[in-house]
This record gives sequence, structure tokens and C-alpha cells, in this order.
Amino acid sequence: MKSTNIFEVEHKVTREQRWARNGHKAAVVWFTGLSASGKSTLAIRLEQRLFDLGHQVYVLDGDNMRRKLCADLGFSAHDREENIRRIGEVAALFAESGQIVISAFISPYRADRALARRAVGDNFHEIYLSADVEICARRDPKGLYAKARKGEIDNLTGVSAPYEVPKTPDLTIDTGTLSVDESLDILVDYVMRNMALSGD
Ligand code: ADP
Repeated sequence: MKSTNIFEVEHKVTREQRWARNGHKAAVVWFTGLSASGKSTLAIRLEQRLFDLGHQVYVLDGDNMRRKLCADLGFSAHDREENIRRIGEVAALFAESGQIVISAFISPYRADRALARRAVGDNFHEIYLSADVEICARRDPKGLYAKARKGEIDNLTGVSAPYEVPKTPDLTIDTGTLSVDESLDILVDYVMRNMALSGD
């Protein structure tokens, strides 16, 4: 840390008070998986479903992070690490404020995901969307795999940049074979079980 003379404010509102008002715990639901594994699709659908159920929920995605807070970062290993570090810190703050945060980033490195988990503390849920690279390349909604084949991208995760499969994710969803609706049902069930206040 470069700054000195930093004094944290002492919140008088506790996290339990925020949870009680919202009717559920706060958490970070951290998706990880290859490009086209379904992170954005499921994040947006899960956000809508939880919002409709009256939950406090917000998606952090590449657009609201990479274009703004992380606009100075590229896709080198160092920049990917810094990108995930910042997202982890932002997710932690949102969760502090009582939100269920859904983060939808490839986050290919185990160490970076562990860093995000440390920033958030308990209530960090690593959700691995396990569609494999052949299926993702066939889907290719953003045309990234096609570009990689033509040599226009040289650091596509799973093709020309590493993806480290989670060893002990909190939940794995086989988005390669399940439908979007089936995957969503698993997620909603998981959130309802894990973010319920005790006694619900
Ligand atoms: P990512 O954000 O991981 O790059 P996207 O959500 O943009 O992936 O794209 C995933 C594509 O796969 C979409 O076209 C989606 O309709 C399709 N798809 C098929 N099955 C699933 C599933 N079970 N979960 C999520 N997406 C799925």
C-alpha cells in the first residue's frame, strides 16, 4: 500500500442488519469458465430471477469493468491478474453493502480466483461453468474462436492462453449439456439455499 494516514470509517450498520432488512444474506456468486461457457447468459438471467423474487442483486461483467474501472488493462497475465484483483475488491464492497453480486468473468487463473475469495471472505461462491472448449468454439456467440482460428487473436483462453479448471468449486454446472433453463434452476436453488437467513 502506497498511501499512509488512512483511517477506516467504522460502520454503525452491521452486515446482519443489512441482511435482515433485505431478507437474505449478501454474497458473491463468482462464475468462472471459458468464453461462451454461459457466464453472461446465466448472470443476466439469474439477476432477473432474483430481482423478481425481491432480492438485492447486481451483475458485474466485462462491460462495466473492462470499459471503465479497468480500461487501462489488457490481456497479458499481469493485466488479467490486476483486472480480477480489482473486480474482487469491487465485488467485496458490493457484498458489504448487502447485495448478491454475480460476477461473470473468465477468471482463468486459480491464484486470481483465490485472491478474489480472500477479498470477499466467507460468502464467496465459486461456480464453475464446465462447457468444454469444443462446445464453446461451436457456439462462439462473439466470434472469438473463429478469430483465433484465423490468427486474429493470440491469447484466447482455452485456445492460446491457459484456463485452470477449479479444483474445489462450490458448484459445477455442466453448461455444455444442460439447457439455459436447467442451468438457471440449479443456480436459483443454490442461491435460495445458501443465501437464506437462518430460520427462513
Ligand atoms: P460467456 O459469457 O461465458 O462468454 P455467453 O453467455 O456470452 O458466454 O454465451 C453462451 C452461449 O451458449 C449463449 O449463446 C447461450 O445461449 C448458449 N448456451 C447453451 N446452453 C447454455 C447453458 N446451459 N448455459 C448458458 N448458456 C448456454
